[in-house]
Amino acid sequence: MPCTADPTPPPLLIAGATVVAAEELWSPGWLVAAGGRIQALGPGEAPGGVRAEVTALGTVVDGRGSVLLPGFIDVHVHGGDGADAMDADPDGLRRMARFHARHGVTALLPTTWSAPPSALEAAVAAIAEAAGPVEGGATIAGAHLEGPWINPARAGAQDPAGIRPPDGAEARRLLDLRRGVVKLVALAPEMPGADEVIEECRARGVVVAAGHTEADWGEMVAAVAAGVRHVTHTVNAMVGLGHREPGTAGAALALTELRCELIADGHHVHAGAMAVLARAKGPGGVVLISDAIRAAGLAEGEVDLGGRAAQHCCGAVRLADGRLAGSVLTLDVALRNFAAASGWGWPDLARAAAGNAAEALGLSSKGRLAPGLDADLVLLGEDGAGEVLLTVVEGRVVHRHG
Ligand SMILES: [Zn+2]
Repeated sequence: MPCTADPTPPPLLIAGATVVAAEELWSPGWLVAAGGRIQALGPGEAPGGVRAEVTALGTVVDGRGSVLLPGFIDVHVHGGDGADAMDADPDGLRRMARFHARHGVTALLPTTWSAPPSALEAAVAAIAEAAGPVEGGATIAGAHLEGPWINPARAGAQDPAGIRPPDGAEARRLLDLRRGVVKLVALAPEMPGADEVIEECRARGVVVAAGHTEADWGEMVAAVAAGVRHVTHTVNAMVGLGHREPGTAGAALALTELRCELIADGHHVHAGAMAVLARAKGPGGVVLISDAIRAAGLAEGEVDLGGRAAQHCCGAVRLADGRLAGSVLTLDVALRNFAAASGWGWPDLARAAAGNAAEALGLSSKGRLAPGLDADLVLLGEDGAGEVLLTVVEGRVVHRHG
């Protein structure tokens, strides 16, 4: 079913909040959305005329004591609320989009993992069917293929049976499915055949990430020269930083062309390592992701990982051997954890949670609060330290707390 929401949402005014507008911070500030876009925003009190007009036609939200940010963009998310991208179920994808919207996400890329060709194609087809606005949820902005062209030596929790060498013909088939719904591909650039896949991606404007990889410094330099611009869950499932062998992690930190994903759940990466990443990459180079799986939002217990059993306990999901298997993280929590680790202020945090992802994917109408852009908004309570009070997707309130 396509989205059935009213195509012209009523105007919305959020007044009194701390407003994180691109490089500026207004406390208080205001923002008005109309027709699905940000119409105007500014410091201080909302102009009387704006308030009167919105009061008559739409909704006025009292934002005092809260922080208004661009809606979060999660480019690496496998599932949530019991649904998983590999289920190849458009309704499940919509459920996942609604779940993550309750945690401030306004756009996401459902993410597949290594699987046989027929399973991957079915998953991509389902994402294409659900792509676009989701009633009551985040916009599905395309698909992310995490594998199958990864290094089996760094499989992490991916099923080794689904991993295979990079193959240009398979890449062409997957990338051309459903008019190019695939927006991001994570692969191991050192594997034979990777260059051809990178080239196929580049030719279609698909972002390529180095992930689940043993690439060394030289291989990462070559990968960047070939067009790799993104790093999958940085420092996880790659060669760590050594002082004589900087490894994949050293290259990710040092090469300025690369934007680095981070799972800021406190299980995948130590807060000190998050701080290193923040210092090395700066505000333009960090992309917070959830890497959430279907267990996110569910009670703890056993989880099915595509036929393999894992345990969801104590805020993490692990295979029987103790390896982490995705996360149960949500981006509101990631933002809080990363804020504490990095010490960054709101404008920089907004880039990590939204702006950098939008830039990476070429979503020029998202990721920032500025007039004319999509009204994708999140309002966080308790001066930003609290829950998601409100999520707005293209001008429509999709979540309101309480
Ligand atoms: Zn993942």
